[in-house]
Amino acid sequence: EDESFISSPAPEDKLLGGLLAPGFDEESCLSRYQSALYRKASPHLPSRYLQARLRKYEAQHKKCGPGTDPYKKAIEQFKSNHSTGPMECNYIVWTPYNGLGNRMLTIASAFLYALLNNRILLIHVPKDLDDLFCEPFPETSWVLPSDFPIIDQLSSFHIRTPQSYANMLRNKVINKNSNGSLPAYVYLHLNHDYSELDKLFFCEDDQLFLKKFPWLVLKSDNYFIPALFLVPEYEEELRRLFPSRETVFHHLGRYLFHPTNTVWGMITRYYEAYLGKAEEKMGIQIRIFQFAPISSENLLDQILNCSRIENLLPEISLKGSSSSTTKAVRSKSVLVASLYSGYSEKIRDKYFEHAAAAGEIISVFQPSHEETQHTEKQTHNQKAWAEVYLLSFSDVLITSSWSTFGYMAQGLGGLKPYILALPENRNAPNPPCRRAMSMEPCFHSPPTYDCKAGKQVDKGALGPHVRHCEDVSRGLKLF
Ligand code: GDP
Repeated sequence: EDESFISSPAPEDKLLGGLLAPGFDEESCLSRYQSALYRKASPHLPSRYLQARLRKYEAQHKKCGPGTDPYKKAIEQFKSNHSTGPMECNYIVWTPYNGLGNRMLTIASAFLYALLNNRILLIHVPKDLDDLFCEPFPETSWVLPSDFPIIDQLSSFHIRTPQSYANMLRNKVINKNSNGSLPAYVYLHLNHDYSELDKLFFCEDDQLFLKKFPWLVLKSDNYFIPALFLVPEYEEELRRLFPSRETVFHHLGRYLFHPTNTVWGMITRYYEAYLGKAEEKMGIQIRIFQFAPISSENLLDQILNCSRIENLLPEISLKGSSSSTTKAVRSKSVLVASLYSGYSEKIRDKYFEHAAAAGEIISVFQPSHEETQHTEKQTHNQKAWAEVYLLSFSDVLITSSWSTFGYMAQGLGGLKPYILALPENRNAPNPPCRRAMSMEPCFHSPPTYDCKAGKQVDKGALGPHVRHCEDVSRGLKLF
């Protein structure tokens, strides 16, 4: 690669440095080419090789997508329930599981897997996911057709489903060393509860074996890309695709996920009304998990302490009145995303009752407070998606530990967030937050099995590609 050809994109480079394909109908998905107007240009450019591979993938998807002859042939094969090896076109079917953040991280993982294996990615879009994402590939569709043979069973797939890779190995339905006939598809169960046999997915021999199946069906709630970097077969290709490892989700996310016009309307209306005029934009993403409870007072203190120590929000002046100059002061908007409303109100009150130290003008907004998670509701998911996208416009970001919702905002925005430490015994630990080492999401439940050595190992210590995550000590992330 000749790096000297790669210069910074123009501020309004709507193709994001060659990441996006030109030629889409702009009206049908305004966000695709308009997002560049709302964000600073990313300093991270996609490699030439990634650009070329994406264009090649798009051509392949068009050739193999729903409705094409190769697709029909592959469906016939699926229905016959046996296969003899790879076909002209081979597929990976993504199925939804868990919240929006989890879903998007696994779509990105499935897409990279498809790219590495020359498979076509099709996603199952139930009603709750409808009208969130535009089609990412030109002149074709990534939506799994509604007449897909087992479409009604997909949501009930789980760890004991007989067609899972682990269960078929265990029950000798398939055998890595035989050349006999195979079932038409394998169910890949890569959820956090997966078994050691399911985790063989991350071994090179198993990867080679899985290539024989025209159809893979995936369910996962994990960003499993870091473990693909540990499969020797993919190492070189991944290095060429992503010379800078910490930009994997940044590029894949911006390539794949474009809000539909409905969601883009929410985003742009909110942006114009509340955020657009501020000189600096800060995002605070607040997520509380049942396994790590904390009182709202303690959490508010944690957020304010983090902001103070890291110089993210100004101190308040205790003198009471603001400085007499009303012009030429800096303005900062603070976008709070949370299921609960109290936090943004308290931060706003603080800067209403007291002047900020340097006369800065602080405005605090929160688009919604849904109170509880409702992944089964389309409008709830649209709001969540709009908030993730708005957060990704931030200049600085505070996120919550363990939250895939936060990972998406940081990845799309290209931001290294300040991560609020997970509460311990209902209290905020000290320090209250720390800066992420990379903008990559964390793989929460990675495999620990060393396929070559045949024993358990600490993959976080394995070397140059991955480290344990700041927020999830057993997790793995690229950096
Ligand atoms: P995670 O559980 O934090 O890893 O993130 P997920 O996105 O997978 O699941 C959490 C879900 O709860 C989101 O998808 C939303 O449906 C909802 N949710 C959590 N936090 C927020 C928030 O700040 N704003 C909105 N609108 N929804 C949220």
